[in-house]
Amino acid sequence: MDEIRVRIAPSPSGNLHIGTARTALFNYLFAKKVGGKFVLRIEDTDLERSNQEYTQNIYDSLKALGLNWDEGPDVGGNYGPYQQSERFDIYPKYAQMLIDKGYAYECYCTQEELDAEKELSIKEKRPHVYSGRCRNLTEEQKAQYRADGRKPSIRFKVPKDKKITFVDMVKGELDFDSNLIGDFVIMKSNGTPTYNFAVVIDDMEMKISNIIRGEDHISNTPKQILIYEALGAKVPQFGHLGMILAPDRSKLSKRHGATAVSEFVEKGYLTEALLNFVALLGWAPSDGVEIKDLKDIIADFRINEISSSNSIFEYDKLNWMNGQYIKKMDIPQLTKRIMPYLSKYDTSVYSEKQLEKIVELTREPLTVLSEETDAVTYFFGDDVTYDEGVYEQHIKSELGQKVLKKAMEDFDSWDFDENLDGGEKLHEQLADFRAYFKEKEGYKPKETMWAIRAAITGRTRGADMVGIMLVLGKDKVKARLQKALG
Ligand code: GLU
Repeated sequence: MDEIRVRIAPSPSGNLHIGTARTALFNYLFAKKVGGKFVLRIEDTDLERSNQEYTQNIYDSLKALGLNWDEGPDVGGNYGPYQQSERFDIYPKYAQMLIDKGYAYECYCTQEELDAEKELSIKEKRPHVYSGRCRNLTEEQKAQYRADGRKPSIRFKVPKDKKITFVDMVKGELDFDSNLIGDFVIMKSNGTPTYNFAVVIDDMEMKISNIIRGEDHISNTPKQILIYEALGAKVPQFGHLGMILAPDRSKLSKRHGATAVSEFVEKGYLTEALLNFVALLGWAPSDGVEIKDLKDIIADFRINEISSSNSIFEYDKLNWMNGQYIKKMDIPQLTKRIMPYLSKYDTSVYSEKQLEKIVELTREPLTVLSEETDAVTYFFGDDVTYDEGVYEQHIKSELGQKVLKKAMEDFDSWDFDENLDGGEKLHEQLADFRAYFKEKEGYKPKETMWAIRAAITGRTRGADMVGIMLVLGKDKVKARLQKALG
């Protein structure tokens, strides 16, 4: 069997879309499962819409997801160049070959003539296909057009009455009627190839064996198959994935939330979680365990089990999954990932160990890393910002003042453990403190702690109080209690 070679061929006209990331992933999984090659090709022939910044974004996003390519513009390979704009001189010779063999012809129609044809078909309520009027031009006619200053495009001669059939890896057997296709342009009059032509030439030269892509390309596939056949080349196997829709069943777009991988990353999604999540858009693990890393997904992946229907991009599920990854990630690594979200604080006041402890204390409720910015405010600066109503209810109140007064009296006896993972003694002391108020005033233990927590953090809920106190240290805790007492 020939080597399995797949590719992802994004156009750098925007940041890497999450849908393209899923297509890349499924290609990657399909290839890696059998030790095949994953190729990256940058389809930047639309020079006006393409730019280097987007190309870089594609590299960065795929890398961040762990989808490293074996061949590509930056790493090279045997079948380059892998950037379409560097391949412009390759296409004309294949187009000429098709003309010579009678599979293609020069078309001198002007845009106005083509528009008129289209209008007529609309008026006559029949599907629009190019009439083929330039199919049989004589050399004299062509010479006359050229003399008139017309530049030809090159059209592929689509055979009449042909059923074009292929077995899609995802959707099964599909067939198309060639009469509905019409002779299509392969080279534009400006000498650049169309997508359908360039993609076939590139996939053929790069020896791509399997093409897995979105089903929005299904209508291109019969055209591409015709070109392969005309060139006498082996037709690769195609697999078309269902689309990714927003929760409201419309096309996923910016108004639903982030759509580019880099946007998700900026918002604080972990690329591991993102990758795991997109794998589930069409694929389901055989053991029902959805949280899986790339290695386990490769092991369990079978392309013929991919769902052929559309998938819904459930942001809520992604949030849940991201939270799961945050909870299980190892602390030093998570701290590194969180640091960019703490840039507004002076983190230099803490040691690495202390910062890790802050992350350990606060990660539990996070769904995205960016929430950490707000989650840790009370670890920084001298002043506490109270949540709404907290000051009146838990500090200014009679209960609050009584609790804080006693806290100040007891404070010097409280044991601020040097070891941030310790604090058993302080735990006990705070338990005694709560018990004291329960007995003396009938305060519920949590009410007592609300006052303490409110004074130290400005909030009534949050991470382990002892942990917070140990990180803040004796002086800061004392000052905050004192200040709250007034
Ligand atoms: N550049 C095309 C796109 O971004 C590639 C399509 C294909 O995979 O054939 O949609």
